[in-house]
Amino acid sequence: MTTRNGPTVSEVAPLFDPGRAEVPPPGTIELYLETPRTLGLLFTAAEDAERTDLIDAAIRAWNASYESFLRYFTRSILLECAPVTRTPGGERIGLFLPGQVFVTRVGHMFAGDREVARFHDHIYVGPVGVRERPDGREWPLDLTSIREQVDGFAAVASSAVQRSLRQCVATQWTGPHPETGFLELIDPPLSEHLATYPRRLCEDSVVPSSQRWNVADMRDRKRRRSPRYRSA
Ligand SMILES: [Zn+2]
Repeated sequence: MTTRNGPTVSEVAPLFDPGRAEVPPPGTIELYLETPRTLGLLFTAAEDAERTDLIDAAIRAWNASYESFLRYFTRSILLECAPVTRTPGGERIGLFLPGQVFVTRVGHMFAGDREVARFHDHIYVGPVGVRERPDGREWPLDLTSIREQVDGFAAVASSAVQRSLRQCVATQWTGPHPETGFLELIDPPLSEHLATYPRRLCEDSVVPSSQRWNVADMRDRKRRRSPRYRSA
Protein backbone atom coordinates (compact mmCIF):
# COMPACT_ATOMS: atom_id res chain seq x y z
CA MET A 1 0.00 0.00 0.00
CA THR A 2 1.30 3.42 -0.90
CA THR A 3 0.54 6.36 1.35
CA ARG A 4 0.82 9.84 -0.04
CA ASN A 5 0.45 13.11 1.83
CA GLY A 6 1.44 16.62 0.77
CA PRO A 7 3.48 17.01 -2.43
CA THR A 8 3.17 14.15 -4.91
CA VAL A 9 6.23 14.85 -7.03
CA SER A 10 9.83 14.51 -5.95
CA GLU A 11 12.33 17.30 -6.59
CA VAL A 12 15.73 16.75 -8.10
CA ALA A 13 19.04 18.22 -6.92
CA PRO A 14 22.52 17.45 -8.31
CA LEU A 15 24.21 14.36 -6.87
CA PHE A 16 27.80 15.23 -7.73
CA ASP A 17 29.78 17.38 -10.16
CA PRO A 18 31.87 15.25 -12.54
CA GLY A 19 33.34 18.48 -13.98
CA ARG A 20 35.13 19.02 -10.65
CA ALA A 21 36.26 15.38 -10.46
CA GLU A 22 33.74 14.62 -7.73
CA VAL A 23 32.53 11.04 -7.33
CA PRO A 24 29.05 9.88 -6.30
CA PRO A 25 28.46 8.44 -2.80
CA PRO A 26 28.57 4.67 -2.16
CA GLY A 27 25.34 2.91 -3.10
CA THR A 28 24.67 5.20 -6.09
CA ILE A 29 22.69 3.50 -8.87
CA GLU A 30 23.42 4.18 -12.52
CA LEU A 31 20.59 3.99 -15.04
CA TYR A 32 22.14 3.58 -18.48
CA LEU A 33 19.73 5.11 -20.99
CA GLU A 34 20.30 4.54 -24.70
CA THR A 35 18.58 6.22 -27.65
CA PRO A 36 17.47 4.49 -30.86
CA ARG A 37 20.62 3.53 -32.74
CA THR A 38 19.22 5.06 -35.94
CA LEU A 39 19.22 8.47 -34.18
CA GLY A 40 23.02 8.22 -33.95
CA LEU A 41 23.15 7.15 -37.61
CA LEU A 42 21.03 10.17 -38.57
CA PHE A 43 23.39 12.47 -36.65
CA THR A 44 26.47 10.94 -38.28
CA ALA A 45 24.95 11.24 -41.78
CA ALA A 46 23.96 14.86 -41.01
CA GLU A 47 27.52 15.66 -39.92
CA ASP A 48 28.95 14.14 -43.11
CA ALA A 49 26.51 16.21 -45.17
CA GLU A 50 27.10 19.32 -42.99
CA ARG A 51 23.36 19.59 -42.37
CA THR A 52 23.37 21.70 -39.22
CA ASP A 53 19.56 21.64 -39.03
CA LEU A 54 19.57 17.84 -38.76
CA ILE A 55 22.56 17.85 -36.40
CA ASP A 56 20.65 20.19 -34.07
CA ALA A 57 17.46 18.14 -34.44
CA ALA A 58 19.27 14.93 -33.45
CA ILE A 59 20.85 16.58 -30.38
CA ARG A 60 17.49 18.05 -29.37
CA ALA A 61 15.88 14.61 -29.66
CA TRP A 62 18.61 13.14 -27.44
CA ASN A 63 18.02 15.84 -24.82
CA ALA A 64 14.25 15.31 -25.08
CA SER A 65 14.84 11.65 -24.25
CA TYR A 66 16.59 12.54 -20.98
CA GLU A 67 14.15 15.32 -20.08
CA SER A 68 11.15 13.00 -20.52
CA PHE A 69 12.91 10.34 -18.49
CA LEU A 70 13.53 12.85 -15.70
CA ARG A 71 9.93 14.10 -15.67
CA TYR A 72 8.63 10.54 -15.37
CA PHE A 73 11.24 9.76 -12.74
CA THR A 74 10.32 12.69 -10.51
CA ARG A 75 6.64 11.77 -10.75
CA SER A 76 7.27 8.15 -9.81
CA ILE A 77 10.21 8.07 -7.41
CA LEU A 78 9.38 7.88 -3.70
CA LEU A 79 11.33 7.51 -0.48
CA GLU A 80 10.90 4.59 1.90
CA CYS A 81 10.09 6.61 5.01
CA ALA A 82 9.47 3.55 7.22
CA PRO A 83 10.64 -0.08 7.18
CA VAL A 84 8.95 -2.01 4.36
CA THR A 85 7.22 -5.30 5.16
CA ARG A 86 5.38 -7.70 2.90
CA THR A 87 1.93 -9.26 3.06
CA PRO A 88 1.64 -13.06 2.65
CA GLY A 89 0.74 -12.30 -1.00
CA GLY A 90 4.01 -10.39 -1.47
CA GLU A 91 2.57 -6.85 -1.59
CA ARG A 92 4.71 -4.24 0.10
CA ILE A 93 3.50 -2.27 3.10
CA GLY A 94 5.33 0.91 4.03
CA LEU A 95 5.31 4.68 4.03
CA PHE A 96 6.32 5.84 0.54
CA LEU A 97 6.60 9.63 0.14
CA PRO A 98 8.09 12.03 -2.39
CA GLY A 99 11.07 14.13 -1.36
CA GLN A 100 14.27 15.61 -2.65
CA VAL A 101 16.28 13.10 -4.67
CA PHE A 102 19.78 13.46 -6.09
CA VAL A 103 20.51 12.86 -9.76
CA THR A 104 23.42 13.65 -12.08
CA ARG A 105 23.36 13.12 -15.85
CA VAL A 106 26.54 12.29 -17.75
CA GLY A 107 25.78 12.18 -21.47
CA HIS A 108 28.13 10.74 -24.08
CA MET A 109 27.92 10.94 -27.84
CA PHE A 110 30.04 7.85 -28.47
CA ALA A 111 30.27 4.34 -27.04
CA GLY A 112 32.95 1.78 -27.85
CA ASP A 113 34.11 3.43 -31.07
CA ARG A 114 33.86 6.81 -32.75
CA GLU A 115 32.64 5.47 -36.08
CA VAL A 116 29.04 6.55 -35.53
CA ALA A 117 27.30 8.47 -32.76
CA ARG A 118 25.61 6.36 -30.09
CA PHE A 119 23.87 8.90 -27.88
CA HIS A 120 23.39 7.63 -24.35
CA ASP A 121 23.13 8.88 -20.78
CA HIS A 122 24.62 7.61 -17.54
CA ILE A 123 22.04 8.75 -15.02
CA TYR A 124 23.43 8.52 -11.50
CA VAL A 125 20.84 8.34 -8.76
CA GLY A 126 21.85 8.74 -5.12
CA PRO A 127 20.73 5.95 -2.75
CA VAL A 128 18.93 8.30 -0.33
CA GLY A 129 16.63 11.29 -0.58
CA VAL A 130 15.48 13.92 1.91
CA ARG A 131 11.92 13.95 3.18
CA GLU A 132 10.28 17.34 3.36
CA ARG A 133 10.26 19.33 6.59
CA PRO A 134 9.58 19.06 9.47
CA ASP A 135 11.07 15.55 9.07
CA GLY A 136 13.97 16.72 6.87
CA ARG A 137 15.74 13.36 7.29
CA GLU A 138 17.41 11.12 4.76
CA TRP A 139 15.52 8.00 3.70
CA PRO A 140 16.36 5.29 1.17
CA LEU A 141 14.93 5.51 -2.33
CA ASP A 142 12.25 2.99 -3.24
CA LEU A 143 14.41 1.16 -5.79
CA THR A 144 11.95 -1.72 -6.09
CA SER A 145 9.41 0.49 -7.82
CA ILE A 146 12.09 1.96 -10.12
CA ARG A 147 12.82 -1.60 -11.23
CA GLU A 148 9.13 -2.28 -11.74
CA GLN A 149 8.64 0.85 -13.85
CA VAL A 150 11.72 0.58 -16.00
CA ASP A 151 9.71 -0.15 -19.16
CA GLY A 152 7.79 3.08 -18.51
CA PHE A 153 11.08 5.02 -18.34
CA ALA A 154 12.17 3.44 -21.62
CA ALA A 155 8.83 4.17 -23.30
CA VAL A 156 8.64 7.88 -22.40
CA ALA A 157 12.28 8.45 -23.40
CA SER A 158 11.76 6.72 -26.73
CA SER A 159 8.54 8.53 -27.62
CA ALA A 160 10.17 11.87 -26.73
CA VAL A 161 12.82 11.17 -29.38
CA GLN A 162 10.15 10.59 -32.00
CA ARG A 163 8.09 13.61 -30.97
CA SER A 164 11.10 15.91 -30.94
CA LEU A 165 12.47 14.74 -34.28
CA ARG A 166 9.07 14.95 -35.96
CA GLN A 167 9.04 18.69 -35.32
CA CYS A 168 12.03 19.16 -37.64
CA VAL A 169 12.00 16.35 -40.16
CA ALA A 170 9.40 13.98 -41.63
CA THR A 171 10.00 10.58 -40.12
CA GLN A 172 8.61 7.07 -40.14
CA TRP A 173 9.43 4.50 -37.53
CA THR A 174 9.40 0.73 -37.16
CA GLY A 175 7.51 -0.99 -34.36
CA PRO A 176 9.78 -2.30 -31.58
CA HIS A 177 12.72 -3.44 -33.68
CA PRO A 178 13.43 -7.18 -33.20
CA GLU A 179 17.13 -6.57 -32.71
CA THR A 180 17.34 -3.27 -30.82
CA GLY A 181 13.97 -3.25 -29.01
CA PHE A 182 13.67 0.45 -29.93
CA LEU A 183 11.45 2.05 -32.53
CA GLU A 184 13.94 2.78 -35.31
CA LEU A 185 13.89 5.13 -38.29
CA ILE A 186 12.76 3.64 -41.60
CA ASP A 187 12.31 7.07 -43.20
CA PRO A 188 14.97 8.44 -43.44
CA PRO A 189 15.96 4.85 -44.38
CA LEU A 190 18.46 4.09 -41.62
CA SER A 191 17.23 0.89 -39.94
CA GLU A 192 18.68 -1.12 -42.85
CA HIS A 193 22.17 -0.12 -41.66
CA LEU A 194 21.72 -1.38 -38.10
CA ALA A 195 23.47 -4.69 -38.83
CA THR A 196 26.57 -2.79 -40.00
CA TYR A 197 26.75 -0.86 -36.71
CA PRO A 198 26.00 -3.33 -33.91
CA ARG A 199 25.12 -2.19 -30.42
CA ARG A 200 28.04 -1.07 -28.27
CA LEU A 201 27.86 -0.16 -24.61
CA CYS A 202 29.96 2.52 -22.95
CA GLU A 203 32.11 1.18 -20.13
CA ASP A 204 32.85 4.64 -18.80
CA SER A 205 31.19 4.57 -15.39
CA VAL A 206 31.88 5.71 -11.85
CA VAL A 207 29.96 2.96 -10.03
CA PRO A 208 30.61 -0.81 -9.67
CA SER A 209 29.01 -3.01 -12.32
CA SER A 210 26.51 -4.46 -9.82
CA GLN A 211 25.03 -0.95 -9.45
CA ARG A 212 24.67 -0.33 -13.20
CA TRP A 213 21.15 -0.85 -14.48
CA ASN A 214 20.77 -1.01 -18.25
CA VAL A 215 17.31 0.37 -19.00
CA ALA A 216 16.94 -1.30 -22.44
CA ASP A 217 18.05 -4.71 -21.15
CA MET A 218 15.66 -4.47 -18.17
CA ARG A 219 12.85 -3.40 -20.52
CA ASP A 220 13.56 -6.36 -22.83
CA ARG A 221 13.67 -8.87 -19.95
CA LYS A 222 10.32 -7.57 -18.76
CA ARG A 223 8.87 -7.81 -22.28
CA ARG A 224 10.03 -11.42 -22.60
CA ARG A 225 8.27 -12.33 -19.35
CA SER A 226 5.02 -10.64 -20.42
CA PRO A 227 2.37 -13.06 -21.83
CA ARG A 228 1.45 -10.44 -24.45
CA TYR A 229 4.93 -10.58 -25.96
CA ARG A 230 5.43 -14.30 -25.43
CA SER A 231 2.41 -15.13 -27.58
CA ALA A 232 3.38 -12.60 -30.28
ZN1 LIG B 1 29.07 6.69 -21.83
